[in-house]
Amino acid sequence: MATDDEAPAAETPAKPETPAKPETPAKPEPEAAPAKPEPEATRKPVTAQVGEPLLKPLAPAKPVPVVTFEKVTKSFGNFTAIKDVSFTIEDHPGRGEFVAILGPSGCGKSTVIRLIAGLTPQFPASGGKVLVDGKHITGPGPDRGMVFQDYTSFDNRSVLDNIAFGLECRGMAKDERNELARKWISKVGLSVDRDADKYPHQLSGGMRQRVAIARTLILEPRIILMDEPFGALDPPTRSRMQEAMIKLWRELSPTIFLITHSIEEAVYLADTIIIFSSSPGTVLEVMHLEPPYKPALEAQRDPQFLDTVFGIRETIEKLESSTRAGD
Ligand code: ADP
Ligand code: MG
Repeated sequence: MATDDEAPAAETPAKPETPAKPETPAKPEPEAAPAKPEPEATRKPVTAQVGEPLLKPLAPAKPVPVVTFEKVTKSFGNFTAIKDVSFTIEDHPGRGEFVAILGPSGCGKSTVIRLIAGLTPQFPASGGKVLVDGKHITGPGPDRGMVFQDYTSFDNRSVLDNIAFGLECRGMAKDERNELARKWISKVGLSVDRDADKYPHQLSGGMRQRVAIARTLILEPRIILMDEPFGALDPPTRSRMQEAMIKLWRELSPTIFLITHSIEEAVYLADTIIIFSSSPGTVLEVMHLEPPYKPALEAQRDPQFLDTVFGIRETIEKLESSTRAGD
């Protein structure tokens, strides 16, 4: 990035001279008083030609943000989990926004995304407004898909049937939904031949997590809410899943909210990072970054990447020590 170090300091405007006393205009002759000029607007001739519309076309309406929090507070009894949380995630048609949520344990990250999902007991908020596409939400909806922290899937259904479940609920015919489910098995890096007929108890944690992700993404929700989805994965699998997420994001361009404890993961994946303060959670900072374009390992060696990660780590540590000092 270019620095401004050598740029000359903005010039201080020269101190204005003491304004010369305006000359007293010669007193006009009463009979020669100039005709008052017509105001600009009324003098302009109408230039529209026959057949030309008189009104200019309206500028396109400003897109409604995908998610807006306005001073949202959530209390459980006397305990305030989040307080006056405000942020706006803009709509980017054809691209979506990848939002990572960072913050210490218990600061209200899950509360925030469960409020977006419309899930009780976090939903409804105790105060403020949660808007999705500019509207108050009344509960869960097919526009929002949630991947839970504990990889929910049905124990008595095979991988294929778990992934096809949502489509079955929508009434899609068996052949069609199974074909789509097989595609998704591959997309999340599982094997159709080896894994489709397995049951959840026959899968590793990482595999179960991928089933949970596929189950949600197959429905192509416009907003994907993921609560620490890669936490239980070993580092190589985690990198592969991060890259798979980026690919899917590019393909389907949803708005994604992802909660993570990993600053590296947030910086790598997200183009917006919301950093929360410790309990009661408030928004400490909203950062906008470059969207990811390199493979995970390569991107994470980049000096600028490491700088950003270090900066965020410092911010969070400062915050945590100032909170401790204030205790
Ligand atoms: P995070 O996901 O950041 O770890 P959570 O959003 O899960 O934090 O929780 C924020 C705070 O709210 C925590 O102190 C948690 O104990 C509390 N909390 C969350 N859900 C409930 C609930 N249903 N009843 C009471 N307290 C809750
Ligand atoms: Mg949580």
